[in-house]
Amino acid sequence: MRGLRRSLKLMIDIDISKVNKQALRILEDLESAGYDAYLVGGCLRDLLLGYVPKDIDIATNALPEEAQKAIRRSRVIGRRFKLVLAHRGVEQYEISTFRRNAYLDEEPSDHPQGDNIYGTLEEDAWRRDYTFNALFYNPQSKKFFDPTGGLRDIEKRRVQMIGDPDQRLVEDSIRILRAVRHAHKLDCHIPASLRKKFSEHAPELLKSALPRRREEFIKILRVYSPFHCFLDMADLGILEAILPSLHPFFQKKQSLQNIRRCWAQLRKKDRSEMEPTEIFTWILIPCLSALEPDPKKWYELSRHPEWTQLMKEELGMFGYEMTDFTQVCELTPQILEMEQYSKRSEKRQSSFLRHRVWPLALDIMYNLKYLSTSQYSDWVREFKNKL
Ligand code: ATP
Ligand code: MG
Repeated sequence: MRGLRRSLKLMIDIDISKVNKQALRILEDLESAGYDAYLVGGCLRDLLLGYVPKDIDIATNALPEEAQKAIRRSRVIGRRFKLVLAHRGVEQYEISTFRRNAYLDEEPSDHPQGDNIYGTLEEDAWRRDYTFNALFYNPQSKKFFDPTGGLRDIEKRRVQMIGDPDQRLVEDSIRILRAVRHAHKLDCHIPASLRKKFSEHAPELLKSALPRRREEFIKILRVYSPFHCFLDMADLGILEAILPSLHPFFQKKQSLQNIRRCWAQLRKKDRSEMEPTEIFTWILIPCLSALEPDPKKWYELSRHPEWTQLMKEELGMFGYEMTDFTQVCELTPQILEMEQYSKRSEKRQSSFLRHRVWPLALDIMYNLKYLSTSQYSDWVREFKNKL
């Protein structure tokens, strides 16, 4: 209960104007039905650190079925973890009931409802991963709860694990990737003692579900400087553990320079809506071009079993994304030969330009400096004229 006392309703001023009104209305729906409801997790962390939150999570003491009744146009989803989902236009909001972890002396048979073990706000905070992800705020009452000391860590821009790192990382090693990503995205630091724990537990990441790692890779490519985030992962032994085919590219000066130069271009792009195929192409192409500078040889190389292993088993790419990537590799040398293109029939020219991954191939070749600005503009003009 010590934590609860520490978190006694701090009055705090959070700039709520960056939070979608729809989310606030969902909180009101829950409150008017007599429940407690709070903004929680990443959105509060982002607001306090000065960023615009991407997704809004809501936590409540209402059980999923109760929350569903209280919130207009919402439904209960999930079985292992029941949640309430409310769609508002293109946005969707997740409303979760406060949960707790099972106590050590509890048997699974004590919980016929599976992983849906509900708890108090305090218990819900302690099962979260990092202190800055365990803040609760209600904009109307201005009640703010910080049971794990997240506000102090936000002030120090510090990533701090909740509970014993050894235990929390064995429970779920994905938390390592989440921390490294958050640190780079939010300009926070990871204390040396926690970094050491991350290195020790990095090999366990291989036991995590590949789709979860894949989601993290995609999100990492969206941080301001993915290059530094990957360097950090190499430093911590994470790359060696989970992306062993990519790791050597982060060891050699030549390929490092290539990746740095290419990824520096990413900073100019809005990556929030970038398709996974595009993101994976940005990861793979600078490595491929470091290995083989001649784009004519990329297609052959991209179909090599080693690359298939990297794409499928390590990055978790889907079949169609792998096909898209090999097609980018097939198109790139043709983009270097505009003269050849000009000799083709109108029909073949337009089918070349209409290729689904053509804009991506053009963009990549320009950013890798295989095309000059004027060559790039020629292609863009051609594209606009023909299609
Ligand atoms: P982002 O949305 O930028 O990925 P986030 O922290 O909001 O960051 P979500 O996946 O949206 O991540 O999760 C919402 C909240 O759920 C987190 O802030 C955290 O409190 C909790 N959470 C998410 N993943 C974990 C995890 N692996 N272990 C414990 N708590 C987690
Ligand atoms: Mg989030």
